[in-house]
Amino acid sequence: MLTENQNKNQCCGCMACSQICPKSAITMEQDDQGFAYPSVDKNKCIDCGLCHKVCPMEENYVGQDAVPDIYALCNKNRETLTESSSGGMFSILARWVIGQGGVIYGVAFDESFSVRHMRADSMEDAARFRSSKYVESDLTEVYAHILEDLKAGLTVLLTGTPCQISAVQKFLLQKRADCTNLYTCDNICHGVPSRKIWTDYLTILQDKYMDSNDSITYINMRSKKSGWKERAMEVRLKNGDLDEVTKDFSFNKIFSSLYANRPSCFNCKYTSHKRPSDFTLGDFWNEKSAGITFDVSNGVSEVLVNTEKGRKLFQLIKDQANCQPVSKKAAWQPHLEYAAKAPKNQAQFWEEYNSSPDKEALLRRYLEGTFMTKVIRKASPILQKTGLYSMAGKMYKVLLVKKSNTP
Ligand SMILES: Cc1cc2nc3c(=O)[nH]c(=O)nc-3n(C[C@H](O)[C@H](O)[C@H](O)COP(=O)(O)OP(=O)(O)OC[C@H]3O[C@@H](n4cnc5c(N)ncnc54)[C@H](O)[C@@H]3O)c2cc1C
Ligand code: SF4
Ligand code: SF4
Ligand code: SF4
Repeated sequence: MLTENQNKNQCCGCMACSQICPKSAITMEQDDQGFAYPSVDKNKCIDCGLCHKVCPMEENYVGQDAVPDIYALCNKNRETLTESSSGGMFSILARWVIGQGGVIYGVAFDESFSVRHMRADSMEDAARFRSSKYVESDLTEVYAHILEDLKAGLTVLLTGTPCQISAVQKFLLQKRADCTNLYTCDNICHGVPSRKIWTDYLTILQDKYMDSNDSITYINMRSKKSGWKERAMEVRLKNGDLDEVTKDFSFNKIFSSLYANRPSCFNCKYTSHKRPSDFTLGDFWNEKSAGITFDVSNGVSEVLVNTEKGRKLFQLIKDQANCQPVSKKAAWQPHLEYAAKAPKNQAQFWEEYNSSPDKEALLRRYLEGTFMTKVIRKASPILQKTGLYSMAGKMYKVLLVKKSNTP
């Protein structure tokens, strides 16, 4: 049985425990930050231990080395590339799986712009998964369907954060599912912000910046309208857009300020080159120092091919992309080595947030981040250009991160 006072930084909210429990003894309950945690009904529990067996936070990949094949990669299809967060590798994988008559599990906005994992059996549907949504996604739909798909012999591509992938894999293992046809793809992971703040943010946009007869038709948190390195947020309405508002009041800034992140993300067990998935995708920021020879102006993915299964598939699909092998050093990324460091005043942020009548003013005050996040934001592009990014990141780890995120 999970401990009654499950330490919050030891739970990534994947729901695997509640989905596996044979006695339906576990329910997920939201705390005042909008993160769900398991609550166990002791009267129903039979102490079978399954909830521990599926828990991805009981793994620890940190400090474990691995030697993935690493590529810088751009989808050759210009339109798909523009709609993708970085180089559009996800869509190449998705197209192959759909071509096998398979299905994709990925993250999309639903009709009210809540962020959830959904199932797609066509490329048209899977296109909704393009572009990163920097909000914790709801995994309910995956557990409900993936087992059936695998039993039916379908080829399945599961995408998500590494803790989510690990959770679903452990769930499938306990269900004795045949995973021969399952391909998995995680992302290099900075963390996931609270759904509660995302919902409040949408309410602020609706109440303050839109006419009562207007509505949001499209949100893109990785719009390439003003260049892919801008990581801009784009919100379109029935009657116009919110470009002026999202320039300085962007949810992406809340994401990068780290205040809204789930506590487990500061204690992440997946910041390593060793990965639970066949593929890992990220943004390739070091293209200058890595000597990439093709055009990367519209975005480029960092692709880690982690398994033999992944290598075989990569050989079949790589012609759909411009790609180049790169060294581990050139592909260095902070979150392949260490977790983000929690802002010192994060507890104060939540206290103020939950009692503030003016959430916008409070978010604007905090979203610029701490002194350190401001320095990192300003310095990163320069360090990437000069090839000093990995050296600076390693120094940051030694000086500031190393001992601060331990449970
Ligand atoms: C929460 C989060 C944090 C990230 N942190 C980093 C980072 O620190 N460094 C880095 O280099 N890259 C990070 N990424 C990855 C990066 O944003 C791109 O997803 C990656 O470059 C793949 O690009 P693409 O063009 O192939 O994917 P796209 O075609 O844009 O496809 C996006 C993929 O991400 C999945 N996805 C979208 N939203 C979510 C979500 N909320 N949760 C789980 N999966 C989601 C979709 O299902 C799809 O598979 C992060 C992504 C997410 C979602
Ligand atoms: S030990 Fe078994 S019965 Fe008890 S909560 Fe965990 S999964 Fe459910
Ligand atoms: S990480 Fe997932 S499996 Fe582990 S306690 Fe939290 S919700 Fe349950
Ligand atoms: S940072 Fe770690 S714990 Fe948080 S969502 Fe990403 S993989 Fe999961």
